[in-house]
Amino acid sequence: MKFPKIISVSGNMPYAVKEMKKYLSLISESEFSNTGFPIKLTAGDGLSESFCVDIDNNSISINSESQRGLLYGVYSFLEKLGVRFLAHDEEYLPKVNEININSYSSMPDFAYRDLYWRGALDGAFSVKCRLNSTRAYTTKDMGDTIRFYNYSHTFDELIPPDEYFDSHPEYFSYFNGKRQKKHSQICMTNPEVLNICTNKVLKWMRDNPNHQIFSVAQNDWYGGCECDNCKRIDEKEGSQSATLILFVNAIADAIKEEFPNNKIHTFAYLHTRKAPKTIVPRDNVIIRLCPIECCKSHPLGECDYVIDGINVENNCADAFKRTNYSFITDLKEWSEITNHLHIWDYTTNYSNYLQPFPNLSVQKHNLKLYKKYGVEGMLMQGNYSPGKTSAFANLRIYLLSKLLWDTEEDERSLIEEFVEHYYGMPAKEHILSCLKTLESTAQKHHMGIFDMPNSPYLDEYTLNKADIHLKLAIDNTRDEKHLTRIKRERLSIIYAKLVRLPLDTLDRDNLVDNFAKQIDELGIKELFERRELNASIECIKNSQYALNRHNVPYEFYRL
Ligand SMILES: [Zn+2]
Ligand SMILES: [Zn+2]
Repeated sequence: MKFPKIISVSGNMPYAVKEMKKYLSLISESEFSNTGFPIKLTAGDGLSESFCVDIDNNSISINSESQRGLLYGVYSFLEKLGVRFLAHDEEYLPKVNEININSYSSMPDFAYRDLYWRGALDGAFSVKCRLNSTRAYTTKDMGDTIRFYNYSHTFDELIPPDEYFDSHPEYFSYFNGKRQKKHSQICMTNPEVLNICTNKVLKWMRDNPNHQIFSVAQNDWYGGCECDNCKRIDEKEGSQSATLILFVNAIADAIKEEFPNNKIHTFAYLHTRKAPKTIVPRDNVIIRLCPIECCKSHPLGECDYVIDGINVENNCADAFKRTNYSFITDLKEWSEITNHLHIWDYTTNYSNYLQPFPNLSVQKHNLKLYKKYGVEGMLMQGNYSPGKTSAFANLRIYLLSKLLWDTEEDERSLIEEFVEHYYGMPAKEHILSCLKTLESTAQKHHMGIFDMPNSPYLDEYTLNKADIHLKLAIDNTRDEKHLTRIKRERLSIIYAKLVRLPLDTLDRDNLVDNFAKQIDELGIKELFERRELNASIECIKNSQYALNRHNVPYEFYRL
């Protein structure tokens, strides 16, 4: 039908009404009046984020059980009209003369959809992406959603080693012949530990009535307890997740009466990744399984390669020691014993944020696999540093947010429309060629999330070819906004080429200084995850492949 000349938008959610009117006025010549063509927006007070869009010649109505679902319905309808919410700093707004849409309904493939990327945390943009990330900066009027109180590692917070270790070493993990304070976990069969943790979790819940999920989860390293009590249970159950689930279940039971709608979250991660044989998580427990060791260039389930860890000597999360365990087996086994299986996936290189991480083509396969195993929630962690991002981060956010809602989306057309609108038509084919160049080499090798710039998929030929495509994209682009974006993406290739230069290369230090100037101008604030920037630049000067990092201080900020 022809786009109505006069429209009346009404509804019981002011933010949704405001957004609908704002975008309709941007894409059409329509005016607004109470007597115009009715568009009715109705939200219930439930939780489901599904929505229905009913269209006929006399009216359009969008309905959802929840406010957030209604808002998603509004943005989805606008997308059907041709609008594209590409990034926090870009939207595509066509001129629309007709409405040729049939009635439809939509529901998300994953109930929880979180992109832990800085560019996806902008509240207004995150709701346009239909993300319900707990840490996005959304406001109450955008409709409330699932809230994690603390969604990560918490053992050190529950039983702080500095507070308890000297008086109660038995509260902490026993391994290598003694109770350990550093890079340790807690002894989960100790009843006093359970008592302290239960009381602390109850306090969290009483103090934070707007949150529904509370994390009781291991610290970000190995070091599970091997005392006689813990070991006996874990050995019988075939995994150190056994004592963890018994412990978490006990807390889940203790909070249930006072907080029947709350859940306890824990990780199946590193030494607890494998499910126990007979112990089953309670209904109010969320298991978040982490494929940190898995190869990222090949589809999950088709490559069992475990990436070699680094920092093996300090017991940390990047010191992968597991071999001969199939992630898919773990996924399957957890999916059989819980209805609340979440995944914490990794979608960038953390040792080198700027380094190309060319694996867009496996994302759809992986998300479909997670859906097949009944995964309820997806958190996809990326570069969450405070500054701007390179390595096509905004493209990744766009693609992943669409696939998180609907794993059947056509990833090729999503990538193409993003590239066209975000970098401009003159650059489109060159950018696509650059992506293809990087990705086709990466597919010939395994890829991990801590890979260094001497990785085989970053060979001279591939980097030079990718760089030529980006230079052509730059040469063809006149628009200043597009030009800045392409230059920022090119930093990724410049970085990889620069750090690979031998230390005795003529003028290498000046090249590094010039690179530092460029990243400053283009807003990049961090090169290695949570490591100080100036010291990172010095590290590039002092070591080929930026390998020598022990002098680069950590900055342990939390979002
Ligand atoms: Zn123990
Ligand atoms: Zn692989």
